[in-house]
Amino acid sequence: MGNEVFDQDSVANSFRALKANAIHQNVTSVKQRKALLQKLLTEILAKQTEIEQAIFLDFKRSPLETKMSEIWLIVKEIKFAIRYLNNWMTIKNVPTPAVFFGNSSHIQFQAKGVVLIISPWNFPFNLSFSPLISAIAAGNTVLLKPSEMATHSAQLIKEIVENVFEKNVVNVLLGGRELATQLINTPFNHIFFTGSTAVGKIIMGAAAKNLASVTLELGGKSPVIIDEKVNIKSAAENIIFSKFYNNGQICIAPDFVLVHKSIEKEFVEALKQALQKMYPPEKLSDNTNYGRLVNEKATAAMQRFVDDAIEKGAKAENKIQIDIAQKFVAPLLISNVTDEMLIANEEIFGPILPIETYTTIEGAVARIHKNGKPLGTYYYGANKTSKRYVTENVQSGALVFNQAHIHHLNSNLPFGGSNQSGIGKSHGYFGFLEFSNQKAIVKTWWPLEMAKIFYPPHSKLSKKLAKIIVKYF
Ligand code: NAD
Repeated sequence: MGNEVFDQDSVANSFRALKANAIHQNVTSVKQRKALLQKLLTEILAKQTEIEQAIFLDFKRSPLETKMSEIWLIVKEIKFAIRYLNNWMTIKNVPTPAVFFGNSSHIQFQAKGVVLIISPWNFPFNLSFSPLISAIAAGNTVLLKPSEMATHSAQLIKEIVENVFEKNVVNVLLGGRELATQLINTPFNHIFFTGSTAVGKIIMGAAAKNLASVTLELGGKSPVIIDEKVNIKSAAENIIFSKFYNNGQICIAPDFVLVHKSIEKEFVEALKQALQKMYPPEKLSDNTNYGRLVNEKATAAMQRFVDDAIEKGAKAENKIQIDIAQKFVAPLLISNVTDEMLIANEEIFGPILPIETYTTIEGAVARIHKNGKPLGTYYYGANKTSKRYVTENVQSGALVFNQAHIHHLNSNLPFGGSNQSGIGKSHGYFGFLEFSNQKAIVKTWWPLEMAKIFYPPHSKLSKKLAKIIVKYF
């Protein structure tokens, strides 16, 4: 349903209109941008039920999860931008070193111009509107392409945008890879992409041809470390909640657990009990708190992960329930995981939790980096030496102690990865910066007599002065 057929003209026409208007949008005032954001806020609040329904139709996520992880996050991000926009847009004065006496220095934040936002399906509203809010706050015009996988959501995103924005300020085009390919080969000033690492590489390659800047919000394998001084029950419950929210289809979901060998048995038992409490296996397919995979392909990928792991000696800690036609996979805990298994190497992005063990914290960190730099690392426990080691040595987009993925809720923190898990940051001021050119401004108010000393031909005095400058400034 829903996704309209695009034609080449629609891309060219949209781009032309957005580009022509970019110079006007760039000089809009704080008041004008706040008015746009306020209008978007009103529309989102009015469409809450439709948003919950669209996602339920797309992958049966519970309305409560949608209210918290889509609607609230968008509302929160808009309110944050409205509150701080004046401060963000104000030209900042920065110090000028004494050697440049007679000058003052400033930073102005100018819109990058016409920007492209490509979003994924797993949080279709949040991951479309959150970068859109930053782009509008920074004064850009925007072309938004939501994912074709969540068709009801994509259609509603288009409707919301059309109710709020003129087409030469924000336009939405619906389509899949063919449309995306045409878009990334159009000379946008900036591309903000959220999705898989594989497609992120394609985006960066295409952007290079136009020297467009990029923000890449990608995926990866976010680890959980459990040290031997942990509150086992509390940590296990929090991990089950964080992992199986949205059926594990979260970029920052715990991908795998590294538990200290000395407490492996008790910890696995606690995970099983937490699972039993939150997602009892009886009639789980009728449980409205538990969603579905997005499509049969994603469900078949889970089957492949499980078959491969079991064949290579892994142990299923609870009953395997996979129904590809129904896009249903029951939460699954897998232990005895070894290096050569697919689940030890690929992002899982679904409701399977591999459990590995470690004996030294140095070994645990080395294991984490085998998969590159993760988007998030989650550490549960009270071992001070290990915590310090992890803080100093783990290279990831975020590090959270005694919880998982809570960091993305605070708009004062930068959100994003590092290399394989992403390039650039989003949310709050960091999102505003991502869509802005930070223009350096210098004002010279001293007569230029001083500078003349260095004009050629070079005198003895200028050579002496050069030596003094190198020595003292
Ligand atoms: P995806 O990469 O398949 O698709 C994302 C978007 O890219 C879609 O709009 C799609 O139409 C478009 N696309 C697909 N092929 C393209 C191509 N060849 N050229 C240009 N665009 C193309 O990702 P997905 O399946 O929608 O989402 C899952 C992935 O996204 C996971 O890896 C997950 O970790 C990641 N993700 C990251 C974040 C984050 O904030 N870092 C958030 C959500 C999801």
